[in-house]
Amino acid sequence: MGIRFDNSYARDLPGAYLRLNPAVAPAPELLILNDGLAAGLGLALDGHAAEWLSGAAVPPGADPIAMAYAGHQFGGFSPQLGDGRAHLLGEIRGPDGRRWDLHLKGSGRTPFSRGGDGKAAVGPMLREYLMGEAMHALGVPTTRALAVVATGERVLREEGMLPGAVLARVAASHIRVGTYQFFAARRDAAGLRALLDYTIARHDPGVDALGLFDAVMARQCRLIAQWMGLGFIHGVMNTDNMAMSGETIDYGPCAFMDAYAPDTVFSSIDRQGRYSYANQPLILGWNLARLAETLLPFFDADGERAVAVANDRLDRIAPQYQAEWLAVMRRKLALEGEDAGDQALIDDLLAAMEAVGADWTLTFRRLGTAALDAGLAAALTHWMPRWQARRRADWSEAMTRANPAIIPRNHLVEQALTAATSGDMTPFHALLAAVTDPFATLAGREKYGMPAPDDLPPHVTYCGT
Ligand code: AMP
Ligand code: MG
Repeated sequence: MGIRFDNSYARDLPGAYLRLNPAVAPAPELLILNDGLAAGLGLALDGHAAEWLSGAAVPPGADPIAMAYAGHQFGGFSPQLGDGRAHLLGEIRGPDGRRWDLHLKGSGRTPFSRGGDGKAAVGPMLREYLMGEAMHALGVPTTRALAVVATGERVLREEGMLPGAVLARVAASHIRVGTYQFFAARRDAAGLRALLDYTIARHDPGVDALGLFDAVMARQCRLIAQWMGLGFIHGVMNTDNMAMSGETIDYGPCAFMDAYAPDTVFSSIDRQGRYSYANQPLILGWNLARLAETLLPFFDADGERAVAVANDRLDRIAPQYQAEWLAVMRRKLALEGEDAGDQALIDDLLAAMEAVGADWTLTFRRLGTAALDAGLAAALTHWMPRWQARRRADWSEAMTRANPAIIPRNHLVEQALTAATSGDMTPFHALLAAVTDPFATLAGREKYGMPAPDDLPPHVTYCGT
Protein backbone atom coordinates (compact mmCIF):
# COMPACT_ATOMS: atom_id res chain seq x y z
CA MET A 1 0.00 0.00 0.00
CA GLY A 2 1.80 3.15 1.18
CA ILE A 3 1.65 6.35 -0.79
CA ARG A 4 1.74 6.13 -4.57
CA PHE A 5 3.97 8.89 -5.83
CA ASP A 6 4.44 10.22 -9.34
CA ASN A 7 7.00 13.00 -9.13
CA SER A 8 6.55 15.00 -12.31
CA TYR A 9 8.11 18.26 -11.09
CA ALA A 10 11.38 16.57 -10.22
CA ARG A 11 11.26 14.61 -13.47
CA ASP A 12 10.38 17.44 -15.85
CA LEU A 13 12.03 20.52 -14.40
CA PRO A 14 15.71 19.99 -13.65
CA GLY A 15 17.08 23.37 -12.64
CA ALA A 16 13.93 24.30 -10.73
CA TYR A 17 14.94 22.58 -7.50
CA LEU A 18 17.66 20.92 -5.46
CA ARG A 19 17.30 17.31 -4.43
CA LEU A 20 17.77 16.62 -0.74
CA ASN A 21 16.10 14.82 2.13
CA PRO A 22 14.28 16.47 4.99
CA ALA A 23 15.96 16.67 8.38
CA VAL A 24 15.34 13.62 10.54
CA ALA A 25 12.98 14.58 13.35
CA PRO A 26 14.39 12.95 16.51
CA ALA A 27 11.14 12.03 18.25
CA PRO A 28 8.19 12.56 15.90
CA GLU A 29 4.79 12.62 17.52
CA LEU A 30 1.58 13.19 15.63
CA LEU A 31 -0.25 16.23 17.01
CA ILE A 32 -3.06 16.12 14.51
CA LEU A 33 -3.88 14.17 11.37
CA ASN A 34 -6.48 15.27 8.84
CA ASP A 35 -8.21 11.89 8.49
CA GLY A 36 -10.87 13.20 6.16
CA LEU A 37 -8.33 14.65 3.75
CA ALA A 38 -6.15 11.53 3.91
CA ALA A 39 -9.14 9.33 3.16
CA GLY A 40 -10.31 11.58 0.32
CA LEU A 41 -6.88 11.30 -1.28
CA GLY A 42 -6.81 7.56 -0.80
CA LEU A 43 -3.63 7.84 1.27
CA ALA A 44 -2.61 4.71 3.14
CA LEU A 45 -0.25 5.93 5.83
CA ASP A 46 0.05 2.43 7.29
CA GLY A 47 0.86 3.66 10.80
CA HIS A 48 3.79 5.69 9.43
CA ALA A 49 2.09 9.09 9.57
CA ALA A 50 4.37 10.57 12.25
CA GLU A 51 7.57 9.44 10.51
CA TRP A 52 6.60 10.10 6.93
CA LEU A 53 4.92 13.45 7.55
CA SER A 54 7.74 14.85 9.66
CA GLY A 55 10.79 13.84 7.65
CA ALA A 56 11.88 11.21 10.18
CA ALA A 57 11.61 8.67 7.37
CA VAL A 58 11.20 9.21 3.64
CA PRO A 59 8.21 7.24 2.36
CA PRO A 60 8.92 4.78 -0.46
CA GLY A 61 8.51 6.45 -3.83
CA ALA A 62 9.06 10.01 -2.56
CA ASP A 63 11.76 12.12 -4.22
CA PRO A 64 12.26 15.02 -1.82
CA ILE A 65 13.33 18.34 -3.30
CA ALA A 66 13.62 21.96 -2.22
CA MET A 67 11.97 24.11 -4.88
CA ALA A 68 13.73 27.21 -6.18
CA TYR A 69 11.88 30.48 -6.50
CA ALA A 70 12.47 34.21 -6.39
CA GLY A 71 10.09 36.90 -5.24
CA HIS A 72 9.21 40.46 -4.44
CA GLN A 73 8.98 40.68 -0.67
CA PHE A 74 7.27 43.89 0.44
CA GLY A 75 8.12 45.29 -2.99
CA GLY A 76 11.85 44.48 -2.93
CA PHE A 77 13.11 41.78 -5.29
CA SER A 78 15.10 38.74 -4.11
CA PRO A 79 16.37 36.74 -7.09
CA GLN A 80 16.73 33.64 -4.96
CA LEU A 81 14.44 32.64 -2.12
CA GLY A 82 13.33 29.03 -2.50
CA ASP A 83 12.22 26.46 0.05
CA GLY A 84 14.41 27.42 2.99
CA ARG A 85 12.61 25.16 5.42
CA ALA A 86 10.41 23.03 3.26
CA HIS A 87 10.58 19.94 1.09
CA LEU A 88 8.32 18.70 -1.63
CA LEU A 89 8.11 14.98 -0.84
CA GLY A 90 6.51 14.30 -4.19
CA GLU A 91 3.16 14.20 -5.95
CA ILE A 92 0.28 11.89 -5.34
CA ARG A 93 -2.81 11.16 -7.38
CA GLY A 94 -6.22 11.21 -5.81
CA PRO A 95 -8.81 8.55 -6.60
CA ASP A 96 -10.16 10.90 -9.31
CA GLY A 97 -6.73 11.05 -10.93
CA ARG A 98 -6.03 14.62 -9.82
CA ARG A 99 -2.43 15.39 -8.96
CA TRP A 100 -1.46 16.86 -5.59
CA ASP A 101 1.81 18.03 -4.07
CA LEU A 102 2.67 16.52 -0.72
CA HIS A 103 4.90 19.05 0.97
CA LEU A 104 6.59 19.41 4.35
CA LYS A 105 7.23 22.74 6.07
CA GLY A 106 9.63 23.11 8.99
CA SER A 107 11.57 20.09 7.72
CA GLY A 108 15.10 21.44 8.01
CA ARG A 109 17.74 23.58 6.38
CA THR A 110 18.31 23.63 2.63
CA PRO A 111 20.73 25.57 0.43
CA PHE A 112 17.93 28.20 0.25
CA SER A 113 17.81 28.75 4.01
CA ARG A 114 20.04 31.83 4.11
CA GLY A 115 20.27 32.69 7.83
CA GLY A 116 17.25 30.63 8.89
CA ASP A 117 17.25 27.46 10.95
CA GLY A 118 14.98 25.57 8.54
CA LYS A 119 12.60 24.74 11.38
CA ALA A 120 9.16 25.74 12.56
CA ALA A 121 7.43 25.91 15.93
CA VAL A 122 4.28 24.05 16.91
CA GLY A 123 2.14 27.21 17.20
CA PRO A 124 2.57 28.59 13.67
CA MET A 125 2.21 25.16 12.04
CA LEU A 126 -1.03 24.49 13.91
CA ARG A 127 -2.07 28.01 12.93
CA GLU A 128 -1.63 27.16 9.24
CA TYR A 129 -3.58 23.95 9.81
CA LEU A 130 -6.48 25.79 11.41
CA MET A 131 -6.62 28.74 9.03
CA GLY A 132 -6.40 26.54 5.94
CA GLU A 133 -9.14 24.19 7.14
CA ALA A 134 -11.32 27.18 8.01
CA MET A 135 -10.80 28.64 4.54
CA HIS A 136 -11.60 25.31 2.95
CA ALA A 137 -14.82 25.04 4.95
CA LEU A 138 -15.66 28.61 3.86
CA GLY A 139 -15.39 27.52 0.24
CA VAL A 140 -12.10 29.29 -0.53
CA PRO A 141 -9.47 27.56 -2.70
CA THR A 142 -6.54 26.78 -0.42
CA THR A 143 -3.67 24.44 0.28
CA ARG A 144 -4.75 22.05 3.03
CA ALA A 145 -2.96 20.66 6.03
CA LEU A 146 -2.62 16.91 6.23
CA ALA A 147 -0.86 16.76 9.58
CA VAL A 148 1.20 18.56 12.16
CA VAL A 149 3.90 16.43 13.76
CA ALA A 150 5.89 17.57 16.79
CA THR A 151 9.56 16.84 16.12
CA GLY A 152 10.73 16.44 19.70
CA GLU A 153 13.18 19.29 19.09
CA ARG A 154 13.12 22.82 20.43
CA VAL A 155 13.50 25.82 18.16
CA LEU A 156 14.71 29.26 19.17
CA ARG A 157 12.26 32.08 18.48
CA GLU A 158 11.80 35.60 19.89
CA GLU A 159 9.60 34.17 22.64
CA GLY A 160 12.34 31.69 23.68
CA MET A 161 12.79 27.96 23.07
CA LEU A 162 9.61 26.50 21.61
CA PRO A 163 8.57 22.97 20.69
CA GLY A 164 9.30 22.30 17.03
CA ALA A 165 6.91 20.86 14.47
CA VAL A 166 6.56 19.96 10.82
CA LEU A 167 3.44 20.71 8.83
CA ALA A 168 2.51 18.35 6.01
CA ARG A 169 0.32 20.00 3.43
CA VAL A 170 -1.37 19.18 0.18
CA ALA A 171 -1.58 21.64 -2.70
CA ALA A 172 -2.71 21.62 -6.32
CA SER A 173 0.89 22.68 -6.91
CA HIS A 174 3.56 24.90 -5.39
CA ILE A 175 4.25 26.85 -8.57
CA ARG A 176 4.38 30.49 -7.58
CA VAL A 177 4.62 33.78 -9.46
CA GLY A 178 8.06 33.77 -7.85
CA THR A 179 8.94 30.51 -9.62
CA TYR A 180 8.56 32.36 -12.92
CA GLN A 181 10.58 35.25 -11.56
CA PHE A 182 13.38 32.87 -10.60
CA PHE A 183 13.99 31.86 -14.22
CA ALA A 184 13.30 35.32 -15.63
CA ALA A 185 15.86 36.88 -13.28
CA ARG A 186 18.47 34.40 -14.50
CA ARG A 187 17.50 35.05 -18.14
CA ASP A 188 17.03 31.30 -18.45
CA ALA A 189 14.67 31.18 -21.44
CA ALA A 190 14.75 27.39 -21.72
CA GLY A 191 13.97 26.97 -18.02
CA LEU A 192 11.12 29.45 -18.30
CA ARG A 193 9.72 27.65 -21.35
CA ALA A 194 9.87 24.32 -19.51
CA LEU A 195 8.13 25.81 -16.48
CA LEU A 196 5.46 27.33 -18.70
CA ASP A 197 4.82 24.03 -20.48
CA TYR A 198 4.73 22.21 -17.17
CA THR A 199 2.28 24.66 -15.57
CA ILE A 200 -0.02 24.56 -18.58
CA ALA A 201 -0.04 20.77 -18.70
CA ARG A 202 -0.77 20.61 -15.00
CA HIS A 203 -3.31 23.40 -14.54
CA ASP A 204 -4.64 24.65 -17.86
CA PRO A 205 -4.13 22.00 -20.54
CA GLY A 206 -4.22 23.26 -24.09
CA VAL A 207 -3.74 26.99 -23.56
CA ASP A 208 -0.82 29.17 -24.65
CA ALA A 209 1.14 31.62 -22.47
CA LEU A 210 -1.53 34.28 -22.80
CA GLY A 211 -4.22 31.76 -22.00
CA LEU A 212 -2.31 30.75 -18.89
CA PHE A 213 -2.02 34.36 -17.80
CA ASP A 214 -5.75 34.85 -18.31
CA ALA A 215 -6.53 31.72 -16.33
CA VAL A 216 -4.28 32.75 -13.43
CA MET A 217 -5.77 36.24 -13.51
CA ALA A 218 -9.30 34.82 -13.39
CA ARG A 219 -8.47 32.49 -10.49
CA GLN A 220 -6.66 35.16 -8.51
CA CYS A 221 -9.37 37.80 -9.03
CA ARG A 222 -11.95 35.34 -7.77
CA LEU A 223 -9.73 34.31 -4.85
CA ILE A 224 -9.00 37.82 -3.61
CA ALA A 225 -12.69 38.74 -3.98
CA GLN A 226 -13.50 35.79 -1.73
CA TRP A 227 -10.91 36.91 0.81
CA MET A 228 -12.42 40.39 0.82
CA GLY A 229 -15.91 39.00 1.32
CA LEU A 230 -14.73 37.16 4.41
CA GLY A 231 -12.59 39.94 5.87
CA PHE A 232 -9.49 37.78 5.40
CA ILE A 233 -6.12 39.51 5.38
CA HIS A 234 -3.29 37.34 4.07
CA GLY A 235 -0.60 39.56 5.48
CA VAL A 236 2.30 38.63 3.15
CA MET A 237 1.09 38.87 -0.43
CA ASN A 238 4.64 38.65 -1.74
CA THR A 239 4.94 37.29 -5.27
CA ASP A 240 6.43 34.07 -3.86
CA ASN A 241 3.22 33.59 -1.88
CA MET A 242 0.93 33.82 -4.93
CA ALA A 243 0.18 30.44 -6.48
CA MET A 244 -0.48 29.83 -10.17
CA SER A 245 -3.15 27.33 -9.07
CA GLY A 246 -5.23 30.09 -7.48
CA GLU A 247 -5.05 28.53 -4.04
CA THR A 248 -4.46 30.53 -0.90
CA ILE A 249 -0.93 29.60 0.14
CA ASP A 250 1.53 30.23 2.98
CA TYR A 251 -0.49 31.13 6.02
CA GLY A 252 1.86 33.28 8.05
CA PRO A 253 0.65 36.40 9.81
CA CYS A 254 -2.81 36.18 8.23
CA ALA A 255 -5.93 36.97 10.24
CA PHE A 256 -9.61 37.75 9.87
CA MET A 257 -10.71 41.29 10.56
CA ASP A 258 -13.20 41.85 13.38
CA ALA A 259 -14.44 45.47 13.21
CA TYR A 260 -14.57 46.73 9.64
CA ALA A 261 -11.68 49.11 9.00
CA PRO A 262 -10.27 49.07 5.47
CA ASP A 263 -6.74 49.95 6.61
CA THR A 264 -6.54 46.94 8.96
CA VAL A 265 -3.09 45.33 9.14
CA PHE A 266 -2.20 42.60 11.63
CA SER A 267 1.37 41.75 10.72
CA SER A 268 4.00 43.36 12.93
CA ILE A 269 6.43 43.64 10.03
CA ASP A 270 4.00 45.39 7.64
CA ARG A 271 4.71 48.85 8.95
CA GLN A 272 3.67 50.64 5.75
CA GLY A 273 0.36 48.79 5.50
CA ARG A 274 1.32 47.44 2.08
CA TYR A 275 -0.76 44.32 2.66
CA SER A 276 -3.69 45.93 4.49
CA TYR A 277 -7.21 44.68 3.88
CA ALA A 278 -8.09 47.39 1.37
CA ASN A 279 -4.77 47.12 -0.49
CA GLN A 280 -5.14 43.43 -1.32
CA PRO A 281 -6.85 44.02 -4.70
CA LEU A 282 -4.15 46.53 -5.66
CA ILE A 283 -1.39 44.09 -4.73
CA LEU A 284 -3.18 41.44 -6.76
CA GLY A 285 -2.74 43.69 -9.81
CA TRP A 286 0.85 44.50 -8.91
CA ASN A 287 1.77 40.82 -8.52
CA LEU A 288 0.05 39.86 -11.77
CA ALA A 289 2.05 42.60 -13.51
CA ARG A 290 5.22 40.93 -12.22
CA LEU A 291 4.00 37.62 -13.65
CA ALA A 292 3.20 39.25 -17.00
CA GLU A 293 6.73 40.65 -17.18
CA THR A 294 8.19 37.17 -16.99
CA LEU A 295 5.88 35.98 -19.80
CA LEU A 296 6.58 38.83 -22.26
CA PRO A 297 8.80 36.73 -24.58
CA PHE A 298 5.95 34.22 -24.93
CA PHE A 299 3.26 36.81 -25.59
CA ASP A 300 4.99 37.93 -28.79
CA ALA A 301 8.44 37.57 -30.30
CA ASP A 302 8.39 41.29 -31.01
CA GLY A 303 9.19 43.19 -27.81
CA GLU A 304 6.92 46.15 -28.44
CA ARG A 305 3.97 44.02 -29.41
CA ALA A 306 4.51 41.83 -26.35
CA VAL A 307 4.34 44.89 -24.09
CA ALA A 308 1.16 46.03 -25.82
CA VAL A 309 -0.43 42.62 -25.25
CA ALA A 310 0.63 42.65 -21.60
CA ASN A 311 -0.69 46.16 -21.03
CA ASP A 312 -4.02 45.22 -22.52
CA ARG A 313 -4.21 42.30 -20.10
CA LEU A 314 -3.17 44.36 -17.09
CA ASP A 315 -5.92 46.88 -17.90
CA ARG A 316 -8.44 44.08 -17.50
CA ILE A 317 -7.45 43.14 -13.95
CA ALA A 318 -9.26 45.91 -12.10
CA PRO A 319 -12.60 45.46 -13.92
CA GLN A 320 -12.38 41.68 -13.62
CA TYR A 321 -11.65 41.86 -9.90
CA GLN A 322 -14.44 44.39 -9.45
CA ALA A 323 -16.92 42.07 -11.17
CA GLU A 324 -15.88 39.18 -8.91
CA TRP A 325 -16.15 41.36 -5.84
CA LEU A 326 -19.61 42.58 -6.81
CA ALA A 327 -20.69 38.97 -7.30
CA VAL A 328 -19.40 38.11 -3.81
CA MET A 329 -21.13 41.07 -2.21
CA ARG A 330 -24.41 40.52 -4.07
CA ARG A 331 -24.39 37.00 -2.76
CA LYS A 332 -23.62 38.15 0.79
CA LEU A 333 -26.57 40.55 0.64
CA ALA A 334 -28.86 38.11 -1.21
CA LEU A 335 -29.55 40.65 -3.93
CA GLU A 336 -31.91 39.60 -6.69
CA GLY A 337 -30.08 39.55 -10.02
CA GLU A 338 -28.01 42.61 -10.86
CA ASP A 339 -28.83 46.30 -10.72
CA ALA A 340 -26.75 49.31 -11.71
CA GLY A 341 -27.26 50.76 -8.24
CA ASP A 342 -25.76 47.77 -6.43
CA GLN A 343 -22.29 49.25 -6.14
CA ALA A 344 -23.68 52.33 -4.38
CA LEU A 345 -25.90 50.18 -2.17
CA ILE A 346 -22.91 48.14 -1.03
CA ASP A 347 -20.64 51.18 -0.66
CA ASP A 348 -23.21 52.87 1.57
CA LEU A 349 -23.47 49.81 3.79
CA LEU A 350 -19.69 49.63 4.12
CA ALA A 351 -19.49 53.33 4.97
CA ALA A 352 -22.02 52.86 7.76
CA MET A 353 -20.20 49.77 9.05
CA GLU A 354 -16.92 51.63 9.06
CA ALA A 355 -18.42 54.64 10.83
CA VAL A 356 -19.65 52.55 13.77
CA GLY A 357 -16.82 49.97 13.67
CA ALA A 358 -19.27 47.14 13.01
CA ASP A 359 -17.97 43.58 13.15
CA TRP A 360 -17.50 42.39 9.55
CA THR A 361 -18.69 38.83 10.02
CA LEU A 362 -21.53 39.44 12.46
CA THR A 363 -23.03 42.27 10.45
CA PHE A 364 -23.78 40.16 7.40
CA ARG A 365 -24.97 37.26 9.49
CA ARG A 366 -27.22 39.49 11.56
CA LEU A 367 -28.58 41.35 8.55
CA GLY A 368 -29.85 37.96 7.45
CA THR A 369 -31.75 37.42 10.67
CA ALA A 370 -32.72 41.06 11.29
CA ALA A 371 -31.05 41.41 14.70
CA LEU A 372 -28.56 44.26 14.28
CA ASP A 373 -26.83 46.20 17.03
CA ALA A 374 -28.66 49.42 17.87
CA GLY A 375 -25.81 51.64 16.66
CA LEU A 376 -25.59 50.03 13.24
CA ALA A 377 -29.37 49.78 12.94
CA ALA A 378 -29.61 53.54 13.47
CA ALA A 379 -26.90 54.21 10.90
CA LEU A 380 -28.79 52.06 8.39
CA THR A 381 -32.26 53.61 8.79
CA HIS A 382 -32.31 55.00 5.25
CA TRP A 383 -30.32 52.17 3.75
CA MET A 384 -32.62 49.39 4.96
CA PRO A 385 -35.59 50.08 2.64
CA ARG A 386 -33.25 50.34 -0.36
CA TRP A 387 -31.85 46.92 0.45
CA GLN A 388 -35.26 45.43 1.16
CA ALA A 389 -36.37 46.51 -2.30
CA ARG A 390 -33.43 44.65 -3.86
CA ARG A 391 -33.24 41.39 -1.99
CA ARG A 392 -34.56 38.06 -3.12
CA ALA A 393 -37.60 36.38 -1.63
CA ASP A 394 -35.59 33.72 0.24
CA TRP A 395 -33.03 36.28 1.41
CA SER A 396 -32.77 35.05 4.98
CA GLU A 397 -31.87 31.45 4.06
CA ALA A 398 -29.65 32.65 1.23
CA MET A 399 -27.70 34.87 3.62
CA THR A 400 -27.25 32.06 6.12
CA ARG A 401 -25.67 30.03 3.34
CA ALA A 402 -23.50 32.90 2.12
CA ASN A 403 -22.31 34.41 5.40
CA PRO A 404 -20.47 32.43 8.06
CA ALA A 405 -21.39 32.69 11.71
CA ILE A 406 -17.91 31.54 12.68
CA ILE A 407 -14.51 32.60 11.44
CA PRO A 408 -11.26 31.92 13.33
CA ARG A 409 -11.40 34.76 15.85
CA ASN A 410 -7.92 36.02 16.63
CA HIS A 411 -8.14 35.83 20.40
CA LEU A 412 -9.47 32.26 20.27
CA VAL A 413 -6.77 31.20 17.82
CA GLU A 414 -4.11 32.60 20.14
CA GLN A 415 -5.62 30.87 23.18
CA ALA A 416 -5.76 27.53 21.35
CA LEU A 417 -2.17 27.83 20.12
CA THR A 418 -0.87 28.84 23.53
CA ALA A 419 -2.52 25.79 25.08
CA ALA A 420 -1.22 23.51 22.31
CA THR A 421 2.31 24.84 22.74
CA SER A 422 2.18 23.80 26.38
CA GLY A 423 0.83 20.37 25.47
CA ASP A 424 -2.95 20.75 25.68
CA MET A 425 -4.62 20.19 22.30
CA THR A 426 -8.19 20.30 23.66
CA PRO A 427 -8.98 23.96 22.86
CA PHE A 428 -7.43 23.54 19.41
CA HIS A 429 -9.67 20.59 18.57
CA ALA A 430 -12.74 22.44 19.83
CA LEU A 431 -11.89 25.55 17.80
CA LEU A 432 -11.11 23.48 14.71
CA ALA A 433 -14.52 21.79 14.99
CA ALA A 434 -16.18 25.22 15.19
CA VAL A 435 -14.34 26.89 12.29
CA THR A 436 -14.85 23.92 10.00
CA ASP A 437 -18.63 24.16 10.43
CA PRO A 438 -18.88 27.90 9.84
CA PHE A 439 -22.40 28.33 8.45
CA ALA A 440 -24.35 26.42 11.11
CA THR A 441 -26.26 28.30 13.78
CA LEU A 442 -24.39 29.53 16.80
CA ALA A 443 -26.59 27.78 19.35
CA GLY A 444 -24.28 26.30 21.98
CA ARG A 445 -21.22 27.76 20.23
CA GLU A 446 -21.80 31.45 20.95
CA LYS A 447 -18.27 32.14 22.15
CA TYR A 448 -16.84 31.16 18.75
CA GLY A 449 -19.00 33.75 17.02
CA MET A 450 -18.06 36.75 19.11
CA PRO A 451 -15.23 39.21 18.53
CA ALA A 452 -12.59 39.71 21.20
CA PRO A 453 -13.74 41.54 24.33
CA ASP A 454 -13.01 45.29 24.13
CA ASP A 455 -10.39 45.13 26.88
CA LEU A 456 -8.02 42.93 24.89
CA PRO A 457 -5.12 44.75 23.21
CA PRO A 458 -5.20 44.97 19.38
CA HIS A 459 -4.25 41.74 17.68
CA VAL A 460 -0.72 41.57 16.23
CA THR A 461 0.65 38.68 14.17
CA TYR A 462 4.33 37.90 13.80
CA CYS A 463 6.25 36.66 10.81
CA GLY A 464 8.76 34.77 12.94
CA THR A 465 6.87 31.65 12.03
P1 AMP B 1 7.55 33.00 4.03
O1 AMP B 1 7.55 34.39 4.54
O2 AMP B 1 7.20 31.95 5.05
O3 AMP B 1 6.73 32.86 2.77
O4 AMP B 1 9.06 32.65 3.64
C1 AMP B 1 9.85 33.48 2.84
C2 AMP B 1 11.20 32.82 2.61
O5 AMP B 1 11.91 32.66 3.84
C3 AMP B 1 11.12 31.44 2.00
O6 AMP B 1 12.22 31.30 1.14
C4 AMP B 1 11.25 30.54 3.20
O7 AMP B 1 11.71 29.24 2.87
C5 AMP B 1 12.24 31.29 4.05
N1 AMP B 1 12.13 30.97 5.48
C6 AMP B 1 11.15 31.32 6.33
N2 AMP B 1 11.39 30.86 7.58
C7 AMP B 1 12.56 30.18 7.52
C8 AMP B 1 13.37 29.45 8.47
N3 AMP B 1 13.00 29.31 9.74
N4 AMP B 1 14.52 28.89 8.02
C9 AMP B 1 14.91 29.01 6.73
N5 AMP B 1 14.20 29.68 5.80
C10 AMP B 1 13.05 30.25 6.18
MG1 MG C 1 6.21 31.74 1.41
